[in-house]
Amino acid sequence: MSDLQEFNKRLREFLDASPTPFHAVEEMRLRLQEAGFSALDERGEWQLEQGKGYYLIRNGSSIVAFRCGKDPVHERGWRMVGAHTDSPNLKVKPTPELHRHGYFQLGVEVYGGALLNPWFDRDLGLAGRVNYENAQGQLRSALINLNRPVGVIPSLAIHLDRDANNNHSVNPQRDLPVVILQSEESNDFRALLADALGAHGYKDVSAVLDFELSFYDCQPAAMVGWNEDFIASARLDNLLSCYIGLESLLAVDTSEHMVLVCNDHEEVGSQSAVGAQGPMLESVLRRIAGDEITWQRAIANSMMISADNAHGIHPNFSDKHDGNHGPLLNAGPVIKNNVNQRYATNSETSSLFRRLCVSSDVAVQSFVVRSDMACGSTIGPLTASAIGVKTLDIGVPTFAMHSIRELAGSKDAYNLRKVLTKYYQLDSVVDAV
Ligand code: ZN
Repeated sequence: MSDLQEFNKRLREFLDASPTPFHAVEEMRLRLQEAGFSALDERGEWQLEQGKGYYLIRNGSSIVAFRCGKDPVHERGWRMVGAHTDSPNLKVKPTPELHRHGYFQLGVEVYGGALLNPWFDRDLGLAGRVNYENAQGQLRSALINLNRPVGVIPSLAIHLDRDANNNHSVNPQRDLPVVILQSEESNDFRALLADALGAHGYKDVSAVLDFELSFYDCQPAAMVGWNEDFIASARLDNLLSCYIGLESLLAVDTSEHMVLVCNDHEEVGSQSAVGAQGPMLESVLRRIAGDEITWQRAIANSMMISADNAHGIHPNFSDKHDGNHGPLLNAGPVIKNNVNQRYATNSETSSLFRRLCVSSDVAVQSFVVRSDMACGSTIGPLTASAIGVKTLDIGVPTFAMHSIRELAGSKDAYNLRKVLTKYYQLDSVVDAV
């Protein structure tokens, strides 16, 4: 197997093992632990050693991993990469039970800007966090992943909706309740969950109290296309970037200060205790720095690359892109620009990135939204404005963003890892610009 094939195989395994941000962070934790990184507890004292790697997790769904450099951080600064762990999906409502015509269904809330039509007629698994009380009356939490088709949202037949191919809009309240079983009896979802926990090895569950559970597509990630030019999977936005960031961090043995931050809640605006607009990254970096002046000097020597997928130009809808800014799949990472600061890229940070791409022998593309369309955003501008660090927004071009199954080029993630690996090893992110 070639290096590229190996990389994509591990990427697919990561995607399949990470149906929710909780699972993605757990997968990252395992990889970091294996690579010798140590867990930090924010409640305890930290004894950080030069050259060592550490990580800390909040809410089980956001993670900051870093390696301490050899020289003082105020002289060297941090080379940072940021991404987000969450993706749009359907989340089970707190009291989800619906009993209609002998079918037991679960009501769902739409998390983030999901493209809803592709959710119909899929084999849906269910995963997330369950909080319960054990036999001793203690509160406990468990990650579960029912990785089998436990639910389905059947389409309405075209005979009953003759207009379906012309205008099929989705009413999320009416159309999305998920059928999970057929039964004349009244069912209690928490009781079902308690059984599921038991089957997962949690034997001491006395009562399920609450949960954060998401439906997801059971179909595993796959190489797609005649020549396997593409990779298809759920949650490419933005687990692809989490994975590239992690692989880059772990590939590098350098004396520099490196940080990887992967936040939850980007798809709903990032404003939360663990989102990019919250204090997590800043409080970790301040604690590493120790005092205000060290922190300020370190930030002035630092840079953040915010990695989040970009929109590739779609051959059937090419008028959705500006003619000069239509990124192609498998043609390199995309620098994302927006003068209104929906992306934090500036010409200094993008120049540095272009040079990194040249020295990595990787092509690079740029994106700016059509002037008559609204621009998306990501964690880059939020981090830039929260901690005042110079920032670059980039990403791998994809199709079908926010669909239940997205599509990326099979070479782009691999190539971006090459570039980010070089970035982490940069002598200075100040002199280079
Ligand atoms: Zn994203």
